[in-house]
Amino acid sequence: TFRALMIVDHEGKPKAEFRELTLAELPDHDVLVEIAFSTLNYKDGLAVSGKGRIARRLPMVAGVDIAGTVVESRSPEWKAGDKVVVNGWGLSETEWGGYSRFQRVKPEWLVRLPDEFSFEQAMAIGTAGYTAALCVNALEAWGMIKPGGREVLVTGAAGGVGSTSVSLLASKGYSVTASTGRPETHDYLAGLGASAFIDRAELAEKGGALQKERWAGAVDSVGSTTLVNVLAQTVYGGAVAACGLAGGADLPGTVMPHILRGVALLGVDSVMAPRAKREAAWATLVAHLDKKQLEAMTTVAPLSDLPRLATEILAGRVRGRVVIDVSA
Ligand code: NAP
Repeated sequence: TFRALMIVDHEGKPKAEFRELTLAELPDHDVLVEIAFSTLNYKDGLAVSGKGRIARRLPMVAGVDIAGTVVESRSPEWKAGDKVVVNGWGLSETEWGGYSRFQRVKPEWLVRLPDEFSFEQAMAIGTAGYTAALCVNALEAWGMIKPGGREVLVTGAAGGVGSTSVSLLASKGYSVTASTGRPETHDYLAGLGASAFIDRAELAEKGGALQKERWAGAVDSVGSTTLVNVLAQTVYGGAVAACGLAGGADLPGTVMPHILRGVALLGVDSVMAPRAKREAAWATLVAHLDKKQLEAMTTVAPLSDLPRLATEILAGRVRGRVVIDVSA
């Protein structure tokens, strides 16, 4: 047997519990993976704490990310010994996820672990970091951000998506402004390449429909009034890649930035992203994510710490990324 963190039904409410599983209990998918590491994302916090109804069937093995080695495969695409990564695809929602020593997954969910990364580094990136890369790629495809040009803003900067976005954008030569509610993280963020800071409270207050143009582009992991203000401060023809809701899921704004300045709201989803976008995101990470910076933003924690960590990440108290050692 091996230990897994499961979301179970407790008097009609989701509750996290450690359970011993056997291989026979895993889903009947074609590829069996021995998991080396998983990770903690905001969504995992919602699932494990029970604060968000992430698991849509119970019992559910939580954890949206997997890095590990193929043990057995009924698919010609993968063979025993292959090193692989899974991000999203409904893991922890409708499909059993990564908080376990073993998992069975569908062959089409897997991407090959890039040679440049260890399992631990791939999970230090995890869904948060891979989403940051999707956001950076989306902004570059839009074409308004220029190395050395006008500022690019990152909101929720000290979080997982935020930290990785700051690091990627800075290493590509963009001027990065970090929005954070934690001034004590300024040195950390400067180390990742941020050159200016704004207090997140400034963006949380309701502002005008069109404000002074400041950002050539932005990565937003906060949503709500913050996103509305960021759109209202984006330059003519600029774009905001929106991926998160740490500040709320509403969007209490106007169409003005879009219809008078041509500002684009680029929605970014990591869960069902097609393989080509995933591979492009991982290629961006391979080429532009500094390993020392990745290490600086990462801590490692045992599976047994997850219930506590889930509460911490929802409270906005986790800095950067947390890798989960599923055997500890
Ligand atoms: P995280 O590490 O907790 O980062 C979120 C950051 O947002 C926090 O560190 C904090 O940054 C800021 N924040 C927290 N509460 C806030 C509030 N009430 N108001 C304003 N700012 C607040 O989480 P993550 O894993 O990076 O995920 C970030 C967001 O992206 C989450 O909403 C997550 O669900 C979403 N996400 C979406 C996708 C997708 O596929 N679309 C993929 C990954 C993540 P500071 O302390 O620096 O202010």
